[in-house]
Formats: sequence, structure tokens, C-alpha cells
Amino acid sequence: MLKIGLTGGIGSGKTTVAKVFTTLGIPVYHADLEARRLMENEPTLIELIRHHFSEKAYENGSLNRSYISSIVFNDKKKLDLLNSLVHPFTIEDGKQWMRRQKSTYAIKEAALIFESGSQGEFDLIIGVYAPETLRLFRTMQRDHIDKAIVKSRMQNQIKEEIKMKLCDEVLMNTEQELLLPQIINLHHQLIERASKQGT
Ligand code: ATP
Repeated sequence: MLKIGLTGGIGSGKTTVAKVFTTLGIPVYHADLEARRLMENEPTLIELIRHHFSEKAYENGSLNRSYISSIVFNDKKKLDLLNSLVHPFTIEDGKQWMRRQKSTYAIKEAALIFESGSQGEFDLIIGVYAPETLRLFRTMQRDHIDKAIVKSRMQNQIKEEIKMKLCDEVLMNTEQELLLPQIINLHHQLIERASKQGT
């Protein structure tokens, strides 16, 4: 089975693309969602977060999101610290999930594949590209937040143009080119590649 990474900057359209792969019958691991689950349920991770972010990080047994967000979104060092605690757990959890899949290929969708140094896990990495102005607009609309907040989140990610050069395949989600045929074409290529590898 081929292990595929799916990445791109904030608002590029990773989740949108992942939904199409899901409808094509391909299993998708959403790193962001799973990270949230692990932060709520994984005892070792909870202990680490409590240790580094104080007891206030959890309230009545649940992650105190507003408290954590207020710290990490204003302090790059704290964000890096939180990521350094959470990433090893999502990386390990994602690897175990991959091992359980039985399809021709399976996808892990994650914004920070290169930033977390986990690119070595994959046979191939797909990038979803959209220009910054469009990503800004989409994220502001989706999350009802202002430009400055999206921009500051973008600063924590590798520049989109550099990220795309690191990817093996790039899907153009620019709204100038049709996205669906690109995904279907790639789906066929991946099935062919998997069959050649005898996976
Ligand atoms: P994040 O990293 O923030 O989770 P993402 O890369 O997963 O973002 P999506 O959530 O898929 O991005 O897309 C961002 C927003 O843009 C969503 O509201 C989505 O519906 C919209 N969007 C994505 N692609 C398109 C498109 N081709 N046409 C119109 N809207 C789109």
C-alpha cells in the first residue's frame, strides 16, 4: 500500500481535496482532528501539556482551548513548544493508522508535514496550492476571523511556494483551473503506481 501525505498552507484546500479522495474510497487520516483527539485523551500527552502550560490547560477534564490559543497564537516559542509535544504523538498515531489500512493507497492530511520533519513517512507527498490572497480570503470567510489573525498563523508555516517545490505532485486549487479532474487523474496515477509496486 502506498503511503501518501497531503499538505498545503492554511486555507489552501487540503480538507476539500481530502473529501474528494474519501468519496473515491480512499481512507484519509486528518492530522488536525486526530491531534485534538489525542490532546483530549492521551494521558502522557495531557501530562506533558499540563507540565509545560500549567494546570489551567485543562478544565473539568477537557482541554482549555481558549487558554491554550491565547498563549500560542501570540508567542511563536510557545507554539513551537506545543507542536513539539503534540507532533510525536500524531506522527506515531498516523503511522499506526497507516499500518491498519488495506486500500491501494491511504492519505494523511497534515498542514505541517515538512515543518514537523515527518516527510520520510511517505512514498509520495501531494501539495495543494492556492495563492496567499485566496487562502487569506477563504480562511477569513470560513473561520470568521480577521486578516491579521490569518496572516499571523501563516507566518508559522513554510512559504507556500517553497512547500510546493518539496512536494512530488501539486494540485492547483486556484479557482482558475478545475480541481476535480486533477484529483481524479492523480487517483488513477496512484492506483497504477501501487499496482506496479505490487502493493
Ligand atoms: P486549514 O489548513 O486551515 O485547515 P485547508 O487547507 O484544509 O485549511 P479547506 O478548509 O479545505 O482548507 O478550505 C478553506 C476554505 O476554502 C473552505 O471554506 C473551503 O470550502 C473553501 N474552498 C477550498 N477550495 C475551494 C474552491 N476550489 N472553491 C471554493 N471554495 C473553496
